[in-house]
Amino acid sequence: MNEFDIIQRFFDRPIAENRGVRLGIGDDAAVVRVPEGYELVLAMDTLISEVHFPADTPADAIGWKALAVNLSDLAAMGAQPYWATLSLTLPEADEQWLADFAEGFHELATRYDVSLIGGDLCRGPLSITVQAHGLVPVGKAIRRTGARPGDTVYVSGSLGEAGYALTVAAADNAGHGWCRQRLQRPEPRVTAGEALRDLATSAIDVSDGLAGDLGHILTASGVGAEVTVSRLPLSPTLVSAVGLDRAIEYALTAGDDYELCFTAAVVDNDAIEAVAGSTGVAMTAIGRIVEREGLRFDVPLNGGEVQAYRHFS
Ligand code: ADP
Ligand code: MG
Repeated sequence: MNEFDIIQRFFDRPIAENRGVRLGIGDDAAVVRVPEGYELVLAMDTLISEVHFPADTPADAIGWKALAVNLSDLAAMGAQPYWATLSLTLPEADEQWLADFAEGFHELATRYDVSLIGGDLCRGPLSITVQAHGLVPVGKAIRRTGARPGDTVYVSGSLGEAGYALTVAAADNAGHGWCRQRLQRPEPRVTAGEALRDLATSAIDVSDGLAGDLGHILTASGVGAEVTVSRLPLSPTLVSAVGLDRAIEYALTAGDDYELCFTAAVVDNDAIEAVAGSTGVAMTAIGRIVEREGLRFDVPLNGGEVQAYRHFS
């Protein structure tokens, strides 16, 4: 298989209709139409073997996750995903690996009508870069800067399982199915993100632990937050597996949950409830935004030190 065979066999798929794709895979570049009144929202994330996933992660999970982490970024902006490009660096052209990778990628892409419209293919150490492209009505993207004192702080879904799965993955890739799924096939909150577009005053996706990611909102908005620890949406399975204290630690400091953390005005509490009802994704109020900068918890945690995941420190 040369690179053109690989692209044709595994990546060139029928393009979803009504996505404005004038030219997809096959030319020097793709051409898409941005409808009047909308603007493009672009997100890019790279997954590197042994940095972002254990080397023995199944290829279908890598394909899924490479797209999922990007759709999660679009969700945090309130954008509707339309297109994606994929840059794949592979040590060898392993047909089974490619088939599995493509299956995972296309499964998630199909769910949200995301068209793969181009990419690149190289030989080298395993690395996957996806850029996802979405649309929002002009000026409507949810930013990190809009949190205001008095706003409620929310988290979608539940936290901590993916971080726990990462710590047990090396020892036991076959077991721990209940949390491994959260690590390998995170569910980007695409529909919820879009529904929150006119409600959330700020948003971020939780990829590096809630404490650090909420911290980004606080810094960008120039505000602080008071969080009630007992309100954190911890997975009950996680709590029974590792105990409450460690579950809290995973939720606050481990990465890979891909939930949304966002703020909204108190008057919109009912509307947020309605979004939870219509999307089937829990939206838990965990605290409130205050004027005094910094993130504070109602009970002391770990001697007060809460550290997010960092590539460079
Ligand atoms: P170039 O010669 O400009 O580098 P390529 O051979 O990389 O072009 O790509 C040929 C076509 O295949 C282009 O349309 C490109 O976007 C697409 N493509 C290349 N790699 C991938 C990939 N991994 N997934 C999807 N499309 C790809
Ligand atoms: Mg070219």
